[in-house]
Amino acid sequence: MKNKVDKLLKEATRAITAAASSRELDDIRVRYLGKKGDITVLLKSLGQLSPEERPSAGQAVNTGRKIVEKELLERKNDIESAEREMKLQEEQIDITLPGVSFRRGHRHPVTRVMDEVIQIFTGMGFSVREGPEVESDYYNFEALNLPKNHPARDMQDTFYIGEDTVLRTHTSPVQIRTMESETPPLRIISPGKVYRVDYDVSHSPMFHQVEGFMVDENVAFSDLKGTFVHFVNQFFGEDTPVRFRPSFFPFTEPSAEVDIGCVMCSGKGCRLCSSTGWIEILGSGMIHPEVFRHVKYDKEKFSGFAFGIGIERVAMLRYGIDDIRLFFENDMRFLEQF
Ligand SMILES: [Zn+2]
Repeated sequence: MKNKVDKLLKEATRAITAAASSRELDDIRVRYLGKKGDITVLLKSLGQLSPEERPSAGQAVNTGRKIVEKELLERKNDIESAEREMKLQEEQIDITLPGVSFRRGHRHPVTRVMDEVIQIFTGMGFSVREGPEVESDYYNFEALNLPKNHPARDMQDTFYIGEDTVLRTHTSPVQIRTMESETPPLRIISPGKVYRVDYDVSHSPMFHQVEGFMVDENVAFSDLKGTFVHFVNQFFGEDTPVRFRPSFFPFTEPSAEVDIGCVMCSGKGCRLCSSTGWIEILGSGMIHPEVFRHVKYDKEKFSGFAFGIGIERVAMLRYGIDDIRLFFENDMRFLEQF
């Protein structure tokens, strides 16, 4: 019996030492100490021995079992701590490594200025309406008091899609569409892209406009004036000089262009302002009775003003940019400055 135990012990020790994982170790435990394990079988066989042999054999098997149990436990601790160590190594985070940085984009200067203009007007109670960029001749011209063959149509060089279809030359058609479907009081702005056949340092075939209007009973020119003095103060700064200069637009009567003191020379006169000290920023006027007639508003009851702001133009003045085409060339060296 003693020899049998020694032999098993030797085998077990070798197996335990060679075990490389907790799983292998578990198999070894079952093989020797499990219900049908070799040592368990030996223990069970003790009953068949003679009473004289039994005590010494029992002691040998029990000692052997304890040794195997101890070796298993020790090896188990070793393997588990090695496995834990390896896991920690694998999951180790080197906090000194530089982080992954993402290139962060930002809004285009035209979008920024557009958003700012919209915010100033919504702050005065205006709401936003949008309309199609491909527009009918009726909405783009006729309803705005620009009948066919009207000489003022030449003021806007138009992209024609078909005989009666154009790329809108201003966002004013939204004014007509809104007045057709809604009743005063109305305070509306319509931001968006507009198109004209024009291309030089201050003109682009596509540019952005915020057009707007207000219609109610008793809207006076003073309301128009107050609105734009407020706008200029908000956008260009409190002390910016503002003046209203008589002008002509077919859809407004009377019409006025709004000038601000030159942002480059502060009114002393420079190339930008053609030595006048003033720069035009928008066109405006009291809505023409003909426009009201087209949308079936009672011109005796309602009055209103309308205006159009060129977004690139005010953006150029805001940022001191002298060529409108820079906005659309997508040159990162330019865009990253904003
Ligand atoms: Zn100037």
